[in-house]
Amino acid sequence: MMERRVSVTGLEDWLSCRQYYQYHYIDRPELDIVEPTRLTVGRAVARAIEVGLGLGRGVEGAFEYIRNEIDDPDVRESARSAVSMVPSYLWESEAPISEDRIEVQYCAYSALPVADCQCRMTHDSLYIVGRPDLWVVENGEIVVYEFKTCAEGRSGTERKLELYEDWGIQAVRYAVLVHDAYPWAQNVPISRRHVVVSTRGFAAVGGAIPVTVDVMRRVRDEMVSIASEIGRVDIVRNWSFACTACPYRGLCAVYLTGGRPLEGLGP
Ligand code: SF4
Ligand SMILES: [Zn+2]
Repeated sequence: MMERRVSVTGLEDWLSCRQYYQYHYIDRPELDIVEPTRLTVGRAVARAIEVGLGLGRGVEGAFEYIRNEIDDPDVRESARSAVSMVPSYLWESEAPISEDRIEVQYCAYSALPVADCQCRMTHDSLYIVGRPDLWVVENGEIVVYEFKTCAEGRSGTERKLELYEDWGIQAVRYAVLVHDAYPWAQNVPISRRHVVVSTRGFAAVGGAIPVTVDVMRRVRDEMVSIASEIGRVDIVRNWSFACTACPYRGLCAVYLTGGRPLEGLGP
């Protein structure tokens, strides 16, 4: 029986390009990847927020992380200015929940968590795992937060927020995992909130958007169906403009020019 463990981010990567997924999670070729700075700043901000909120060290802990762990002065300054835009009440959240990661085993037939599934099939080892940026229980509600970093001005930052609110599938997927992982969460309303901070000193903070039971059912069905595909269908490249920003583009370019990408690995 094959064991499959797919992360919420992995689902997204699989949908974007199966070959990327194969390189990134399975083959893991050693490359000298130079990340574009924006990505590095985004990572730094995400990690600082995680340290500050998730590990409960507060805003001081977040700044300390940036001071001590980030060498590049430009990245440090941008990260500092983005983190300083996180609304202050969040640093004071009373019950931030920071699990290392949430993991739920699903039934590929019913798309239900195995714990709830009544089907008589043998349950494959299909796990979906993930770690929301932050989730809290406030006023009897579970709120799943998603933080994003950008380098826009005020209106650009607000536009970004609108995009995440309209297309915020990742936050919904995390909401499903939270709901499915904890029996006590089954009867608690869940919502998502998106926060976009800009390295130029702006922030856009969204309101709570309910994630209804119906929405969770649809998204759960979809997650399980995507996860079931992985490892069963062929790896194909999704050639697109996204390739220009892909760390594995060198390998794929060789494929087109007649060389062999990853001698000994892959096709
Ligand atoms: S370069 Fe393009 S085709 Fe190749 S792995 Fe990256 S996204 Fe996929
Ligand atoms: Zn089942």
